Amino acid sequence: MFLTVLGRYGPYPRPGGACSGYLIEDGPTRVLIDCGAGVLSRLMEHVHPFRLDAIVLSHLHFDHCSDLFVLRYALDQQDAPEGEKRRIPLYTPDEPFDTLKAVTNGALFEPHTVKGGDTIRIGTLLFAFTAMAHPVPVNGMRITDGNGSVLFYTGDTKQFPGMERDALGANALLADACFVDETETGPHMHVKQACDMARKAGVQTLYLTHLWGKRDTEDAVKKEIDFPSAFVVKERGRYCI
Ligand SMILES: [Zn+2]
Ligand SMILES: [Zn+2]
Repeated sequence: MFLTVLGRYGPYPRPGGACSGYLIEDGPTRVLIDCGAGVLSRLMEHVHPFRLDAIVLSHLHFDHCSDLFVLRYALDQQDAPEGEKRRIPLYTPDEPFDTLKAVTNGALFEPHTVKGGDTIRIGTLLFAFTAMAHPVPVNGMRITDGNGSVLFYTGDTKQFPGMERDALGANALLADACFVDETETGPHMHVKQACDMARKAGVQTLYLTHLWGKRDTEDAVKKEIDFPSAFVVKERGRYCI
């Protein structure tokens, strides 16, 4: 599968950047994971949203869903008669309910709620969800493509015991590395914790993302890496998993 990074910042972007958004492509299957500020414009460089097989949100914080409020206009303006317009399957946690309702009400989505332990198939991709640790429900996801390659995406999470369990043996781990070190606290991992998860899970490659929008941390993040095959994702980076 191919992973294209559409945005890598949270909870708000750096100048010229975008918040969380990742396009997964496997043969004919195209899935958008998360849709934060600035993601729609980047997505349109690859595919129109009504050609997506599905949208999967790790969680309903605005830096992961705010561009859905604009993406819905693009779905409304499909060149098809009313009643024949395509609805895009949208998989999200079931809370916070007010946000979910605001995102989905009256929009051309086909909403589904999913939680840790659930599995779904979207085209050639199999998604297995895991509950992560964050102030709202977050679905981490183990994505297996048609060739058996595996990507695990943490969504937003702080470190918790056993968090590596569902990422075991993955080819790639796409992990929240919002903070540089333990002096910064919040419901996110810092770089060394992401590296620790990668080591315990025995993954091949660690992709660090969800960089802090408050200041430019990229060089500081790189200095803290202690996993042999790890790097900070590039915005618009396209990776073969
Ligand atoms: Zn976030
Ligand atoms: Zn969050």
